[in-house]
Amino acid sequence: MGEKKKKIVKTIKVDVDKCNGCRTCEVICSAFHATPKYSSNNPARSRIRVIHDPLKDVYVSVYAGEYTAAECTGRDKYTIDGKEYDECAFCRASCPSRDLFKEPDSGLPLKCDMCEDDPPQKEPLCVKWCITDALTYEEREEEVEEELEREEMEIGLESLANKYGLDKIMDTVARMSMKD
Ligand code: SF4
Ligand code: SF4
Repeated sequence: MGEKKKKIVKTIKVDVDKCNGCRTCEVICSAFHATPKYSSNNPARSRIRVIHDPLKDVYVSVYAGEYTAAECTGRDKYTIDGKEYDECAFCRASCPSRDLFKEPDSGLPLKCDMCEDDPPQKEPLCVKWCITDALTYEEREEEVEEELEREEMEIGLESLANKYGLDKIMDTVARMSMKD
């Protein structure tokens, strides 16, 4: 058993009723993560995407979570205002079965880093720029097993290397770490 340590868990709460679909969150996220910073704003590079149903006029923001090496076997069904949504529509994973949350050039998975990229932001930028307050930043403290945490990170890196090849990952990391 590994030692327990305290970990701050950071989340973004999404209030669907307040979202008006302006997509400012997509613009600011992709601009902040562009190289050089703020040089472009391509929503395809955003770590938050707004899912829209034109018939019901519903907008749901989904921010990118963990990479998954394989399609999951259990799927979730969502019903909003009586309309049933695609099983994978609101999943946060970068998954082999769909194009969402993948870097358009390399195909490597995108994950929300809570804007802790260089320079780290005091508050996630999508939350700061959302004028309707549909997004709220929250922190809570949890106890985790230190070894388990390291193991999960190693499994994630190994499956990425298996799928994309170490060279491609190293190239992308080098490009992303280029200074402005
Ligand atoms: S910035 Fe806020 S209101 Fe605009 S699309 Fe994103 S979550 Fe919705
Ligand atoms: S917290 Fe930052 S990285 Fe995450 S979705 Fe929002 S803008 Fe993008």
